[in-house]
Amino acid sequence: MDNKQIQENYHRILETIADAAVKSGRLPEEIAFMAVTKTVAPELVNCAIDCGIQILGENRVQEYQSKKDAYRPGIPVDFIGTLQSNKVKYLIGNIRMIQSVSKLTLAQEIEKYAAKQNLKQDILLEVNIGGEESKSGILPETLPELLMQVSELPHVHVCGLMTIPPPVKDDRFLKAMQELFLKIKQMQIPDTEMKILSMGMSDDYAQAIQCGSNLVRIGSALFGARDYSKR
Ligand SMILES: *Cc1c(COP(=O)(O)O)cnc(C)c1O
Repeated sequence: MDNKQIQENYHRILETIADAAVKSGRLPEEIAFMAVTKTVAPELVNCAIDCGIQILGENRVQEYQSKKDAYRPGIPVDFIGTLQSNKVKYLIGNIRMIQSVSKLTLAQEIEKYAAKQNLKQDILLEVNIGGEESKSGILPETLPELLMQVSELPHVHVCGLMTIPPPVKDDRFLKAMQELFLKIKQMQIPDTEMKILSMGMSDDYAQAIQCGSNLVRIGSALFGARDYSKR
């Protein structure tokens, strides 16, 4: 991967996003395009930022810490990976939003450190829409209960939902997620917003946007296939 390829990928993806947005009756600007940076060298991430990427997604706390100072200053970063409670302290005050919360204990840990810093931490709840054993995320049937509990934490602010659906060709899980998102929105849980649906990766982002996503998380389609051997 070089800068020119990233530029080309960026513009191609941007066009696909715009097209899918319009097809779903929205403006292209309503869809956030996140660059997922796992295993990607900071120089290449900065190239994506220079192209116009406005948000980064990090999966691992250690990798985030080792790379964050090399990124262009001021670029917001979301955490999207599995998060252990003992690492929460490294994120609060640095990360824009934690997208991968699916347990009350984790939300309580976020509450603790956010309270210490006197800030309100934005989070998304991660939903295991396919009910897959191997995946993290809360099951749809237990989501309302978790939302009620998290909504009572004064320094945690739920902004919406995130999901990694099972890798199938059709859009049944994307549609199920759209329905769940709308259902939860209608419940109007106090101190909870349902404004972000984070759904769609390199292989399904156009479909995801057509199913109501307004934040797509893109790694390999932008930066090329990941090389885990160099980590
Ligand atoms: C790696 C990752 C992505 C991006 O995956 P690609 O298929 O490379 O676009 C998106 N979301 C999460 C949570 C990820 O871990």
